[in-house]
Amino acid sequence: MFGKILIANRGEIALRIQRACREMGIKTVAVHSTADADAKYVRLADESVCIGPAQPGLSYLNIPAIISAAEVTDAEAIHPGYGFLSENADFAERVERSGFAFIGPRAESIRLMGDKVSAKQAMRDAGVPCVPGSDGALPEDPQEILRIARQIGYPVIIKAAGGGGGRGMRVVRTEAALLTSVSTTREEARVAFGNPTVYMEKFLENPRHIEIQVLSDNFQNAVYLGERDCSMQRRNQKILEEAPAPGIPRRLIERLGNRCAEACRRIGYRGAGTFEFLFENGEFYFIEMNTRVQVEHPVTEMVTGIDIVAEQIRIAAGERLRFKQRDIELKGHAIECRINAEDPFTFVPSPGKVTAWHLPGGPGIRIDSHVYAGYTVPPYYDSMIGKIIAYGDTREQAIARMRVALSETAVEGIRTNTKLHRELLADERFFQGGTSIHYLEEKLRERSNRTRN
Ligand code: ADP
Repeated sequence: MFGKILIANRGEIALRIQRACREMGIKTVAVHSTADADAKYVRLADESVCIGPAQPGLSYLNIPAIISAAEVTDAEAIHPGYGFLSENADFAERVERSGFAFIGPRAESIRLMGDKVSAKQAMRDAGVPCVPGSDGALPEDPQEILRIARQIGYPVIIKAAGGGGGRGMRVVRTEAALLTSVSTTREEARVAFGNPTVYMEKFLENPRHIEIQVLSDNFQNAVYLGERDCSMQRRNQKILEEAPAPGIPRRLIERLGNRCAEACRRIGYRGAGTFEFLFENGEFYFIEMNTRVQVEHPVTEMVTGIDIVAEQIRIAAGERLRFKQRDIELKGHAIECRINAEDPFTFVPSPGKVTAWHLPGGPGIRIDSHVYAGYTVPPYYDSMIGKIIAYGDTREQAIARMRVALSETAVEGIRTNTKLHRELLADERFFQGGTSIHYLEEKLRERSNRTRN
């Protein structure tokens, strides 16, 4: 096992990784920007290195600074967390070439899955169901593009092969709009991702977002840890997630999960990963794979009892998975609410000093956050400052516990979206379960109409 790990991230996930390391008796190195110098998790680390100023490009995305921090502290491995450099294949490669272990997949896998066209091809070859669409990149020939769209049937969605974070996508509902939309998306993709390749998919009108968590070691052992329902989204950003997904027959999940595990074996995947699907009319459609730990991993940890971050570390250290698929049992239900430093109505970020921080507790409640009273939320980074996770024997119990937890939550000094979560937890349709990825936005539209009238 590693003696020392450098954590190349910040905020709640830096603390989450640090906790796993400390529990495993591994020393930690926190790297931080000048804006995060006083954070408590930085002080709790065995060592800390300032890697640059607040702007992410000069610190958390600064590859040479991170690698030299690992060199001067004699770290053996680097955990990238999520966001920042976590899905940067060049970073993974440079980490390994500099003699450190990268706690994540091989650079090749990151590259394969980072390009949505090659990812989809690999998944189709592995028997994972995909959204019907162009077989690969769209050609230049306009007649050919029109023909492909006619064959798929409108509406279609044009997506950038290098896209991410909900950017680089355009829905097309009529043939008249197709060619212009393809050129616009190509141009945007060239500018934003340095790759003009686009592809076409059938646009699904009312899907749910369901994802499968996998773990895979270096010895062809791959398992899936059930699914998560992440349909509660605003502008393609998840805000509440749960496991398991309400109302989906177990045999469908099992069939899909086994396909994902098989895909991991086929591509020689290593570490933790997530296969994301849209689910509509009883069918799953692969959209992309995330080759890193995800924000919402705790709900899976709660229902499986498996520490995903600890498993990432063990796999990177060359250990074999200690369990087989048949050993994985899903028990109970878990819900996660992401707490964002933002206005609950306008969604404008609300950084600043937290003057009061009362977070809930009690049976089945887990808090993943680096924040405390007196902490200042810097304005330079993502507005997510923590997560409340509620676990119960049943979905009803998890909801009841989350409602109590949210009622105990009191944050002062900055605004948070806690109020929005309280509304969601009181929502009848949410209570029934199975809402689509558009539900939250529809609800928000209704809410703003109501306040306007
Ligand atoms: P990103 O990498 O930018 O997150 P994804 O491919 O994961 O891109 O898609 C993000 C979101 O866009 C999905 O969660 C879904 O809401 C929507 N989306 C993507 N593809 C389709 C599709 N074929 N039909 C309907 N919605 C889609």
